[in-house]
Amino acid sequence: MSKLVIVGTVAFDAIETPFGKTDKILGGAATYIGISASNFAVDGAIVSVVGGDFPKEYISMLEEKGMNVDGLEIVEEGKTFFWSGKYHNDMNSRDTLATELNVLADFNPVVPQEYKDAEVVMLGNLHPIVQMGVIEQMNNPKLIVLDTMNFWMDCALEDLKKVIAKVDVITINDEEARQLSGEYSLVTAAAKIMKMGPKYVVIKKGEHGALLFHKDDIFYAPALPLAEVFDPTGAGDTFAGGFSGYLAKTGDFSYENMKTALIYGSALASFCVEKFGTERMLKLSKKEVHQRLQQFKSLTQFDIELT
Ligand code: AMP
Repeated sequence: MSKLVIVGTVAFDAIETPFGKTDKILGGAATYIGISASNFAVDGAIVSVVGGDFPKEYISMLEEKGMNVDGLEIVEEGKTFFWSGKYHNDMNSRDTLATELNVLADFNPVVPQEYKDAEVVMLGNLHPIVQMGVIEQMNNPKLIVLDTMNFWMDCALEDLKKVIAKVDVITINDEEARQLSGEYSLVTAAAKIMKMGPKYVVIKKGEHGALLFHKDDIFYAPALPLAEVFDPTGAGDTFAGGFSGYLAKTGDFSYENMKTALIYGSALASFCVEKFGTERMLKLSKKEVHQRLQQFKSLTQFDIELT
């Protein structure tokens, strides 16, 4: 089992979907990643920052999930990162209504001493300068996975490109892959992004699954058609947590094993959207995960005789 360092926002979110609206609830990229990775009982640490307004019971919950929180700084006089978004009717796209960086604006990440030798680093969504700050503190990680979003492409592209040059895997959604590469075809976009540094590119397509690109190979993981989709927030991070958590657990960073990681990530993300915020992920049992993996298998497995 490898150690896993997770960096990303720990946040308050206010979400509006066609099915309802929330007040400020627990959110943040690192929160979703940590909860998702905890399904693999990994030795993980969260590196992030919150304000004095952040409830202590949320931190205890992350600890109960097995996450080390020594690198989760609390700035007592500051306010926690806040994000608010509104989903369109198709739930595949959303508008960001507010992004208040608050304590994240001048955050200097500190990786706890005993996690500097972690084999896997999951750089969740936040400022690329913070992501770079984490990379620089690591001794010799075997796998660095980067997740990011259009917000940082719009306001910190040059810093983001420096991080992209240093990572092994990048996970982004289709719209972001097009924005980053300037290409419409996802095949061409992935090829261009691989030239920027990462050996593997994962393109998430919401309810249409995820693609893994490596050299000239492409692997596809479907998304499970679900009866209940209430809130897609955190699905991408949950995917990233499942993907990196599985890889940390197995310690096998080959392309073949990454295909399985893609399936685990997709299976976990399929739960996340069934309730608002982190609610569904916090009540997930191993049995439910296994049943869903079985559903994934039967969704795509078929025999065909070539005539
Ligand atoms: P996802 O739906 O997977 O893209 O992730 C949504 C989560 O990312 C929410 O819980 C937000 O708190 C967080 N988030 C939204 N915008 C940003 C941003 N610009 N940087 C970091 N985290 C963000």
